[in-house]
Amino acid sequence: MSDENKKSNELKEKLFAKRESGGKALSDEELKKCEEFSTHYKKFLGKSKTEREVVSYALKMAQAAGFKEFDKNKKYVPGDKIYLTNRSRNLVLCTVGKNGLKNGAKLAVSHVDSPRLDLKPNPIVENNEIATFKTHYYGGIKKYQWTTLPLSLHGRIVKRDGSFADISIGENEDEPCFYITDLLPHLAKEQMNKKMSEVITGEDLNVLIGSMPLRGGEGSELVKLNILKLLNEKYEIVEEDLICADLELVPAIKPQDVGFDRSMIGGYGHDDRSCAYPCIEAILNTSLPEETCIVLLTDKEEIGSDGNTGMKSLFLRYFIEDLCESENLKARDVLSKSKCLSADVNAAFDPTYSSSFETFNSSFINKGVVVTKYTGSGGKYSTSDASAEFTGEICRILSENSILWQSSELGKVDTGGGGTIAKYIATWNMDVIDIGVPVLSMHAPYEVISKIDLYMTFKAINCFFNSTNSHQINHYFN
Ligand code: MN
Ligand code: MN
Repeated sequence: MSDENKKSNELKEKLFAKRESGGKALSDEELKKCEEFSTHYKKFLGKSKTEREVVSYALKMAQAAGFKEFDKNKKYVPGDKIYLTNRSRNLVLCTVGKNGLKNGAKLAVSHVDSPRLDLKPNPIVENNEIATFKTHYYGGIKKYQWTTLPLSLHGRIVKRDGSFADISIGENEDEPCFYITDLLPHLAKEQMNKKMSEVITGEDLNVLIGSMPLRGGEGSELVKLNILKLLNEKYEIVEEDLICADLELVPAIKPQDVGFDRSMIGGYGHDDRSCAYPCIEAILNTSLPEETCIVLLTDKEEIGSDGNTGMKSLFLRYFIEDLCESENLKARDVLSKSKCLSADVNAAFDPTYSSSFETFNSSFINKGVVVTKYTGSGGKYSTSDASAEFTGEICRILSENSILWQSSELGKVDTGGGGTIAKYIATWNMDVIDIGVPVLSMHAPYEVISKIDLYMTFKAINCFFNSTNSHQINHYFN
């Protein structure tokens, strides 16, 4: 190599932004940690198919790690571990820091709801001795992707006496699954000429649930009657109880390694459980931080964060207010000084669909945790654009801790876009930025992530919680 060449290479090394692939850059030891973390994650993901199931899994992990239910009349000391649930669908995990809340808290928030099919209030329909569930899809899905897949049914049915039945059918091989039919190609000439968005409509997402009439019965709707009889025997419910229920159909597919090299994980609900799990592990691995650290698992992100369990609910705010009161601090001051990672996935560059991405500003699998300064669409509309100061603070933490990271937008500027909960947190005058895992086929029934990115997201959140205050800037007060 000529001297000139050597010089320009050195200069490149010094000046160019780095986008290393973890497959090359990480040590064998680090790759082993990615593998170990992924094993635990796959177990979690396979058992956590709904927001309620994530919350109950995470709660068990937290209780085993010594977290105790929050008591607002109690005085907490550094190192105390607290949890609080909300309607079985939100979970706050908090570790009290040496400084309490006086410098603000450090938060990491992710959502635990994923796109799926919910049952309509009157779901059971029988037509020509075939019984189906009518569904109403939840979140942004490509409807045609949800046909011809094994589906499982999860949720809660509240009975007349106030007791409830928790249901999970279709995950185990000895249980039945459910299914949405599609038209055979031989008869699909007309269907094949339709626009992709119209091939399968919302009212076509009818789920096959039975075909056997009540033996010895007479009259109409005997298949439906037989199903209600089975449900009554097992859960002591009647048809009307299905109105008082949260029942969700999700893919009955288990998480599994993808690729000959096993570098990736396929699974349902990586958005956003691949960020929720790192959040949970990050706080469980934070014992005595400088500042009080808080994780919130939130719900309803996929349908706009509304409702009393969505990010627009005051649940987290009330918790922080109560904690502030016990330290004789004003919540508004604490919120204004607090810093938050909105942990949510980003769209990974897909070579098959490269025309939808702008490669210089895309995230790539295996290149680490993605920092997304802003989301939004149509000209940065409807987003919280993290400040240069706060972005700098986070990027410093990532670099100083040798965390593999990359920065990205979501797709080409005029192609589409998306939103996260960051903008709702920002209304509390809090610094917030999106970080998370790049996902292939986001919102599909079976999504793909890389093991390296998953582990780096855990490391990022963990280092954020455990970072000292030396870099903290409070530009609200400056
Ligand atoms: Mn998400
Ligand atoms: Mn999503």
